[in-house]
Amino acid sequence: MNFDTSEITQQVAASAREYAHQHIRPHVMEWDETQEFPLHIFKELGKLGMMGVLVPEHYGGSGLGYFEYSAVIQEIAKVCGSIGLSVAAHNSLCTGHILAFGNEEQKQKYLPKLATCEWLGAWGLTEPNTGSDAGNMKTTAVKEGDDWVINGTKSWITHGRSGDVAVVVCRTGEPRAKQNSTTFIVERGTPGFSGGKKENKLGMRASETAEMVFDNCRIPDSQRMGEVGAGFVQSMKVLDGGRISIAALSLGIAKGAYEASIKYSKERHQFDQPISNFQGISFKLADMATEIMAAEMLLNQACDLKIRGKKMTKEAAMAKYYASEVAVKVSTDAVQIFGGYGYTKDFPVEKFYRDSKLCTIGEGTSEIQKIVISREVLR
Ligand SMILES: Cc1cc2nc3c(=O)[nH]c(=O)nc-3n(C[C@H](O)[C@H](O)[C@H](O)COP(=O)(O)OP(=O)(O)OC[C@H]3O[C@@H](n4cnc5c(N)ncnc54)[C@H](O)[C@@H]3O)c2cc1C
Repeated sequence: MNFDTSEITQQVAASAREYAHQHIRPHVMEWDETQEFPLHIFKELGKLGMMGVLVPEHYGGSGLGYFEYSAVIQEIAKVCGSIGLSVAAHNSLCTGHILAFGNEEQKQKYLPKLATCEWLGAWGLTEPNTGSDAGNMKTTAVKEGDDWVINGTKSWITHGRSGDVAVVVCRTGEPRAKQNSTTFIVERGTPGFSGGKKENKLGMRASETAEMVFDNCRIPDSQRMGEVGAGFVQSMKVLDGGRISIAALSLGIAKGAYEASIKYSKERHQFDQPISNFQGISFKLADMATEIMAAEMLLNQACDLKIRGKKMTKEAAMAKYYASEVAVKVSTDAVQIFGGYGYTKDFPVEKFYRDSKLCTIGEGTSEIQKIVISREVLR
């Protein structure tokens, strides 16, 4: 395996890094404390091509590949996991779903607006009673003449309130039946569609997470994406790509916590020497470096398969599972290395620690990743 970073990937990473340092870093704690969702940041990232990284240029996107996409998410997450999460959800869930499964008319209508973030995207699969068990959803879409009428509530949706357009997976068949769900594109402002409760979260607090409520929301059949009954299979394919995003998000958080730990351990003196001299600290740093490199190799493997159009369900699940657990471990050890200062909001590691936990939950928990991986290896 040789995943030497290309010149274009390096340029994209440098531009994301520079933007994150200049425009995100100064506000990270303020947004975190107030749970402010800084919409203007996403509009600016849209102008820089970072909200449509994978969208072909003829639809107004950057036309780049998964290595560049992964670099963007990592560089932003090194500074702020929340902004990284929102960029990931917009790019690979809502936009990614329309790119993969929209018809030509839908792609031409939505992708240019999404790729530039003139419109912010949301993607709704999860419901209050169905997260991991997404196939058991309660939100229904019923055909009435040429229209569909949607009823139900989607929960935990990134940009559930602020999204201008949402991809929504609804049940169109009997509960638990095969091929019982279908995907629709619903625009904000459609009567019967509203944002619901915004969650007050442990971490990722500047990324908006909210309900989307559908109350007799009527949309024309032209808003249906793909075949009736194809919703679940489409969603699982979208999540394969989404897991690359969450692996990159995890890796960015882990790298941010690791880099802060290296710096602090050289600066902080106890017993008349830098704490990095103590094996109890330096071995933690060695573990961090090793686990980060291993996570990066898994992520690169998944990206490589994806851009070559190969099946990567197992590899994306492995990358997401491992990188997210590494993010939690590295940021936990980072707090330990910072000692009492790590427990305060004056240093960045407590935020990495809080943000990292989402990575083992969102877009399929670690347990669900292990189900996916074991199913693949036992085939
Ligand atoms: C910040 C945030 C943003 C999100 N954004 C979105 C979004 O944009 N769109 C969207 O659709 N969803 C989104 N989600 C939802 C997310 O994908 C779900 O939370 C996740 O899939 C887990 O579902 P759940 O919370 O219902 O947990 P549950 O499914 O209730 O799981 C609870 C526990 O049981 C375990 N478990 C469940 N089933 C099994 C099993 N078969 N074997 C072993 N263990 C099992 C789980 O691993 C977990 O530990 C978001 C969530 C968060 C927190």
